[in-house]
Amino acid sequence: MTHAHAPLAVVGGGLAGLIAAATLARGGREVHLFEGSRLGGRGRSEWMGEFAVNLGPHALYVQGLARRALLDLGVSIRGGRPPLSTLGLVEGELHPLPFTPMAAASTPLLTAGERFALARWVAGLALLRPESLRGRSVSQWLAPLAPRVRRVLGALVRVSTYCADLERFDAGAAAAQLQRALHGVLYLDGGWQSLVDGLRSRCEALGVVIHEHAAVRRVEGGLVTTDAGELGVSGAVLAVSPKVAHKLTGHPRLAEALDRATPVRAACLDLVLRGDVDPARRFALGVDRPVYVSEHSSVARFGPPGFTVVHAAVYGGQDVHGGTDPGLLRNELEEAMDLLYGDWRARQVHDRFLPAMTVAHDLPRPGEPRCPGRLAADLWVAGDWVQGEHLLLDAAVESALAAAAGLLARKAVA
Ligand SMILES: Cc1cc2nc3c(=O)[nH]c(=O)nc-3n(C[C@H](O)[C@H](O)[C@H](O)COP(=O)(O)OP(=O)(O)OC[C@H]3O[C@@H](n4cnc5c(N)ncnc54)[C@H](O)[C@@H]3O)c2cc1C
Repeated sequence: MTHAHAPLAVVGGGLAGLIAAATLARGGREVHLFEGSRLGGRGRSEWMGEFAVNLGPHALYVQGLARRALLDLGVSIRGGRPPLSTLGLVEGELHPLPFTPMAAASTPLLTAGERFALARWVAGLALLRPESLRGRSVSQWLAPLAPRVRRVLGALVRVSTYCADLERFDAGAAAAQLQRALHGVLYLDGGWQSLVDGLRSRCEALGVVIHEHAAVRRVEGGLVTTDAGELGVSGAVLAVSPKVAHKLTGHPRLAEALDRATPVRAACLDLVLRGDVDPARRFALGVDRPVYVSEHSSVARFGPPGFTVVHAAVYGGQDVHGGTDPGLLRNELEEAMDLLYGDWRARQVHDRFLPAMTVAHDLPRPGEPRCPGRLAADLWVAGDWVQGEHLLLDAAVESALAAAAGLLARKAVA
């Protein structure tokens, strides 16, 4: 890019773009943030009546990089931890999942020997070096365990990583995420919109020029082009999907990344119900199916009291049912709801079905690096598809911080 003293551009106003913009502005640069619709991306919450409900279930990792970065930028994070006690959905029945000592002692899902093997595996997890597993798949990693222990661990891997494709998922990345998950997650008051709003305020206070509803058409030769005109820039962070980043720049690394990407998908059913749900049935995971149901509102506030916000999801989404009929996914979600909360339909106030959500644009696969964040000294990409140590939002934040550091370091050298 040519304009050495020109501002920097961040394209994409999701959480990664907002964090990149705030970090660059805090580093003393003039920053323009371009967002094609409204700020927040997949991290925003949408109103369902009086309730600010996330687009599918969202949990912030207590030990994750995103939480640290948000706190460092002065964004307040309020919410609560979901219960550890979890039910397992197996062949149309509910049983305790052995994730707490009491449940482990009573669950019929495992024999005494299998419970011991599981407890030993979980105890070993904390001491494991995830790097030692890089290049192997999760399936290979779990292969020595008994099939029923593997099944239970499959549910644990899915809920911690969102990934249902254990054959193509790098065991090192999964192990690192499982270690972080052991420290718990937070459901946030006001949904993840509270993070979007906090970051917007921070960006505004730092002087970031925010262009909302301003889709970028091209980033090339030191120019960012939108329908409203052109801006000369000295560098850019593309905090968008690999497809959009490729369309904007035509960069060959992005064509390659797009070609190889294995997206992580989910189908989600977001519900607001009148009244409370049985406290013993707040959280359930499929053991023989990649299903998740969790009530989020007992530990975080999304709207007025007296109502319950429940998120249900099928990990893998359309990949699970061969990719065609969203009705099959909805049936699967409703069947899980029927099993947990028989009368939920009579109490339903709002529902939103999202059959094809992209949770992450690329999965860490064994032996295959993801797209590098640095495409050139003045051109970086950020998102949950960029190479790094983390997953999900933490990966998006990791690459956003790396991009900001790279562009700021360039100024220091110049
Ligand atoms: C159902 C679901 C559940 C999830 N649960 C969790 C979870 O529990 N924990 C966790 O850590 N992560 C979770 N994630 C992942 C997390 O939401 C994402 O990793 C994170 O929000 C990605 O942020 P981003 O800014 O990189 O991308 P996005 O949020 O996708 O933002 C990209 C932005 O770019 C904008 N844009 C696109 N094209 C252009 C253009 N041409 N010009 C300008 N702007 C453009 C888009 O409008 C969008 O706002 C979940 C995701 C989903 C979908």
